[in-house]
Amino acid sequence: MSKTVNILGSTGSIGRQALDVVSRLGGWEVASLCAGSNAQLLEEQIRRFKPRYAALLDERAARDLRTSVADLPVKVYAGAQGVCECAGVPADISLNAIVGMAGLRPTLAALETCGRLALANKETLVAAGRLVTAKAQEKKVKILPVDSEHSAIFQCLEGAPEPRPLKRIILTASGGPFAGMTRRELEDVTAEQAMRHPNWSMGAKITVDSATMFNKGLELIEAVWLFAAEPSRIDILIHRQSVVHSMVEFIDGSVIAQLGVPDMRIPIQYALTWPRRFRSPVKQLRLEEYDSLTFEKPDDETFGAVSICRRAAARGGLSPAAVNSANEEANALFRAGKIGFLDIARLTAAAVDAVPAAEDYTLEDVEAADLLARQAVLRQIA
Ligand code: NAD
Ligand code: MG
Repeated sequence: MSKTVNILGSTGSIGRQALDVVSRLGGWEVASLCAGSNAQLLEEQIRRFKPRYAALLDERAARDLRTSVADLPVKVYAGAQGVCECAGVPADISLNAIVGMAGLRPTLAALETCGRLALANKETLVAAGRLVTAKAQEKKVKILPVDSEHSAIFQCLEGAPEPRPLKRIILTASGGPFAGMTRRELEDVTAEQAMRHPNWSMGAKITVDSATMFNKGLELIEAVWLFAAEPSRIDILIHRQSVVHSMVEFIDGSVIAQLGVPDMRIPIQYALTWPRRFRSPVKQLRLEEYDSLTFEKPDDETFGAVSICRRAAARGGLSPAAVNSANEEANALFRAGKIGFLDIARLTAAAVDAVPAAEDYTLEDVEAADLLARQAVLRQIA
């Protein structure tokens, strides 16, 4: 099996692991690479994987990169438009591992030309699920989830006949570093503490999202779009060991789960090679090494993020986009030490009301909602 692939966000946590997977698969061709501003790492990746196209969001970094790879036959684009140019390079598979709302236009650009979209950028589906799934359907492009929970659900559903006899989806959550803490204790936690995730090593934004539980709320909305599931049919369980990556329950009471060691290279590889499976370098799962696998109800009274996302999903329209962007802004403010941990959910919940729900929406509406939600967050702390 040998394919051409575009990796968007190649210098990040998922992007680097995706290139590791691609290099081990052997014989795959990388058509384009793009990232935010890390010219040095992108240069190394270009020298190793020899894509024909590359881009950096940061124009100055892109200029530096152009100079440093002048000896290679690679065209280097710059800016948000340049990132979309790379996303739209024809390839069998585009893997979008850009973080945040910035991934939306590249996702739509990729859907125009790729054969399959391997999607790590969950914010794309949260903010504009209707636009993205409609475009994928129109272009007959299959979306393969990279998010470990959604890869698990996808795998559990494989082979189920249509209409699916599905009763509910059970999303598992590690609970992050602060599971079990009280609101009083959460008041003083720092970004540095939030960055210490017990099971996964990930980019900064999603690590903080895991601590606030917004990651699980966003994943709930992601699942609504990927699996055409009612939000009320998606339950969440805290499972601290991150071994059971998620489950589905069928109407006959049968529950199917997907298990594995917490290593993102498993879902990344499956999104690339589906429906085939290949060897991977991940550690073998040895269940006998775990004292127990535990499951508990999440404490949403304390964290609040999941119910904010549930409300937005129920309201529909632009509400999930508003939650997504307000959270993204508040998450960044917390990481910059400008607001407290509990402010993230408080500011996000309030910002959602600043955006009209609007049943039907366009890309421009989503981008306007993005701006409104961010401004609402900033106004509250001014
Ligand atoms: P990261 O911060 O490590 O990497 C983000 C990448 O996107 C970097 O290469 C960065 O340069 C690039 N980027 C940022 N803004 C950009 C822009 N405007 N244009 C082009 N490139 C841009 O993040 P990550 O942890 O790799 O996460 C990426 C996505 O995958 C997120 O949506 C996250 O929710 C999702 N995800 C990550 C993990 C994980 O284990 N890291 C697991 C599940 C889902
Ligand atoms: Mg996940």
